[in-house]
Amino acid sequence: MKINFIDLKRQYNKYKTDIDREISEVLESAQFILGNKVSELEKQLAAYVGVRFGIGVSSGTDAILLALMAYGVKSGDEVICPPFTFIATAEVIALLGARPVFVDIDEKTCNIDPSLIEERITERTRGIIPVGLYGQVADMDAIYSIAQRRGLFVIDDGCQSFGATYKGRRSCGLPDVGVTSFFPSKPLGGYGDGGMVFTDNEEIAKVIYSLHVHGEEKRYQHKYIGINGRLDAMQAAILLAKFKYLEDEIKLRQQKGAYYTDGLKDVVVTPYIEPHNTSVYAQYSIMAEKRDELSKYLNDNGVPTAIHYPVPLHLQEAFRYLDYREGDFPVSEKTSKGILSLPMSPFITQDEQDYVIGKIREFCEGLSS
Ligand SMILES: *Cc1c(COP(=O)(O)O)cnc(C)c1O
Repeated sequence: MKINFIDLKRQYNKYKTDIDREISEVLESAQFILGNKVSELEKQLAAYVGVRFGIGVSSGTDAILLALMAYGVKSGDEVICPPFTFIATAEVIALLGARPVFVDIDEKTCNIDPSLIEERITERTRGIIPVGLYGQVADMDAIYSIAQRRGLFVIDDGCQSFGATYKGRRSCGLPDVGVTSFFPSKPLGGYGDGGMVFTDNEEIAKVIYSLHVHGEEKRYQHKYIGINGRLDAMQAAILLAKFKYLEDEIKLRQQKGAYYTDGLKDVVVTPYIEPHNTSVYAQYSIMAEKRDELSKYLNDNGVPTAIHYPVPLHLQEAFRYLDYREGDFPVSEKTSKGILSLPMSPFITQDEQDYVIGKIREFCEGLSS
């Protein structure tokens, strides 16, 4: 059997009529930048996550960058985030000349451990960026209460957790600001780059809106130094078509996730989802002994895998100047050595899952005999 890691073709074939219609509407309108499709998507997604403002932007990375810019983050500031995430989370902090200050993750959820945050706060700390890794939101109440007490902002990196819930509230709809990505493989993916910033804070929303169109207040009147950070109409149209199916897809992801867990929980460490959370399984990631050998065994048998992430950020060459060293974040380091993501999409079939489960069990039984 040959399995796809994420099956975007099956998804397109299923929604083809809707998607093609949306695309041709954009072509017919010749409105390619901003316009109705973008503002309609902003309205629908903001309502979905439960806040007043959504601003469509060029990528998840730019969404975090714009949020940091709106809070005026600058050289000499510090911003806290986990070292076990995609580099974008910390990269944009550094890009503004501020220092990413890493805080280790919780072993079970792989999200930032709130109990370790306070000891890293200094007089230079401006905010915290928790990440909803693999599709499960971090412990936002605990994080937000620290932030409130210490006068810090919170930006929820919901690039993997869009659609997930935390105590009944949606990812990206929690204070102060939530961001997501529409990279094709994300839970709500477009057919190119895109992202969105969400907030209930009108002041911040206004600044972000301006920053994403070169700091404009009115046409050719620039209040801030901004960027070209717009979402294009074609992506917005595709996302409008796909958004209608998001809730159904999330249910399917959760069923597929539960099916993997049932079949694997006695041989590997399966994802732990907090009782107050739901996950959208952006990734279905297990912790396994002899991970690299298991990965090779699966790949040799037609099962693609991925490692999210093989090198924690504090050990990346790009961040060498921060002067962290091996051993600084033991949970992140340990997780990076054992984590393995399996093929996952709303359209993976039961036969395919049975095959993946069978191959993992075969490998593990070989280990123990
Ligand atoms: C994908 C991702 C990003 C970046 O999103 P892009 O749209 O690719 O720029 C940021 N943070 C996390 C956790 C992500 O998974």
